[in-house]
Amino acid sequence: MINPDLILLRFGELTLKGKNRNRFEQAVIHYTLDVLKDFGELTYRKAYGRFFLELNGAPYPSVASKLSKIFGIQTFSPVLRRSHDSEAICTAAVQVMEGLSKRPQTFKVSVKRTWKEYHHDTQEMNPMIGGAVLRAFPGLKVDVHEPDVELRVEIREEGTYIFSDIIPGAGGYPVGSNGKAMLMLSGGIDSPVAGWLSMRKGLEIEAVHFHAFPFTSERAKQKVIDLSLHLAGYTRKIKVHMVPFTEIQTRLNAMGQPNLMITLMRRAMFRITERLADLNGAKALVTGESLGQVASQTLPSLNAIGSVVDMPLLRPLITMDKEDIIRIAHRIGTYDTSILPYEDCCTLFVPKSPSTNPNINVLERIEGRAAWLEEEIEKAVKDTESFMLSHLFDTGYAPKQEGIEVSLSEDMERFF
Ligand code: ATP
Ligand code: MG
Repeated sequence: MINPDLILLRFGELTLKGKNRNRFEQAVIHYTLDVLKDFGELTYRKAYGRFFLELNGAPYPSVASKLSKIFGIQTFSPVLRRSHDSEAICTAAVQVMEGLSKRPQTFKVSVKRTWKEYHHDTQEMNPMIGGAVLRAFPGLKVDVHEPDVELRVEIREEGTYIFSDIIPGAGGYPVGSNGKAMLMLSGGIDSPVAGWLSMRKGLEIEAVHFHAFPFTSERAKQKVIDLSLHLAGYTRKIKVHMVPFTEIQTRLNAMGQPNLMITLMRRAMFRITERLADLNGAKALVTGESLGQVASQTLPSLNAIGSVVDMPLLRPLITMDKEDIIRIAHRIGTYDTSILPYEDCCTLFVPKSPSTNPNINVLERIEGRAAWLEEEIEKAVKDTESFMLSHLFDTGYAPKQEGIEVSLSEDMERFF
């Protein structure tokens, strides 16, 4: 398609009203212009209750790929702007149809004429534009009731706007508009998805990763950095905390409670993460836990683990199917990194039969015997290596034209 002149932006969360909506819009616009500043002279304009980005020649595909990663933008449309000349309008209408991301079978033209002095009325415009499109695309049909696409033509005093494609954005709330939380980020499939869903809800995320160097390799650490960079693609930067966990893990292991090992380890991790949250001004912890997925994610296990912290525990995946989690992982670009085979610290000591029903009193008794635990937790917090990652380069993730549509599995879709 020829480069559009403008992009029409639509913001999310329709329930927001008045001042809140205003704040929401301002936050998204401010962030959008900042993300797009490398493209030079992009300008933003609000007209007739609509939000437009003037491309001023900036290449649409690159701008669109950035826009599709901005939280708060629900959908957007490339728009051609022409004079009032009917021939120019018809040519542009054909160009818009040519540029659609999906070939339609049927279409309809919707002309809106807000400039009443325009010499043609909509009754004349509809067939004129429709006819031009039909001549250009033999086989395409008009369907005024349920068209595959609607070709919109808006005639305003300063010019005519022609558009059709509606590209889904990342949706959700503007970056950081709902406070900050610590994401417990393993190298697996789930926790990056949990992080992305939290970011989409407007949470600023700091990633906390527990590594057991030298039992786990540098490459395992790099994998977590790569995942964090992917997440940073949606917010431009992310703070990462690498917690040395070898000592705690080894000493817990030496206590000879193989079936409770994972639970004991997780309890230590949660305590450390809560302290890091306090130190960094975060108000909640986020995990990738999903009910019933493994022994440590039964209800008694989740309780036994979660009971060691006071902060709210957010588990965005708790009732989700693995299939849906994987689908999101693909769409946000973390899947391929997540399935790389490098070991995680927790897989090192996986017992043959981990307890699915750990007893909190028993756990507390065991921990009571570990006089060293508190000191080691403090030490792990103190020795945590923290750094800021910026999304300075493209991590290779190129969103597809249709943007980030988080769809449900076929199973779920059938159900609804
Ligand atoms: P994931 O795919 O996120 O690794 P999982 O299904 O493999 O999840 P577990 O290994 O039981 O589940 O981990 C449950 C949650 O605990 C993870 O989603 C993550 O939030 C946290 N977690 C596990 N290992 C680590 C780690 N090494 N560092 C930080 N958080 C971790
Ligand atoms: Mg895991």
